Amino acid sequence: MKQIWAPWRLEYIKNKKEAGCVFCACVRKKNKKEALILAQEPLSFVILNKYPYTCGHLMVIPLRHVPTLEDLSSEEGLEIFLVIQQVMKILKKVFKPQGFNVGVNVGRAAGAGIEGHVHFHIVPRWSGDSNFMPVIGKTRVLPASLQKIYDQLFPHFQK
Ligand SMILES: [Zn+2]
Repeated sequence: MKQIWAPWRLEYIKNKKEAGCVFCACVRKKNKKEALILAQEPLSFVILNKYPYTCGHLMVIPLRHVPTLEDLSSEEGLEIFLVIQQVMKILKKVFKPQGFNVGVNVGRAAGAGIEGHVHFHIVPRWSGDSNFMPVIGKTRVLPASLQKIYDQLFPHFQK
């Protein structure tokens, strides 16, 4: 994938030594909006990436804390695949991306930020978005708009 300029990811890289698993901690939070969780399924959940590459960068994550794809049961694998399809439909409707990157990084060498808990990225893409927010510099642009994006998407996850 083409490199995307996302300065707030620096903060993420600095903070990533946080103790415990951030995904498991999110699931335990009572306030789903604060946790940025859009949907919880029987075996998995959908969450907004706090350090997004683009607007609407979501992740689908098994509830079980397992490090890699082979650890997932068939039921988990199937549910996650169906949820990814659902997420893509919703993102298409709401943000009208021109493409997607969908994928998993397994292991630090592959760029996994949180190694212990496998997660599937769904990154909506637009032509020219590799220049996404190029000049904003130090400010992390998204915190305020993360809640806004959450509010935009949330209704679509209510069945
Ligand atoms: Zn975990």
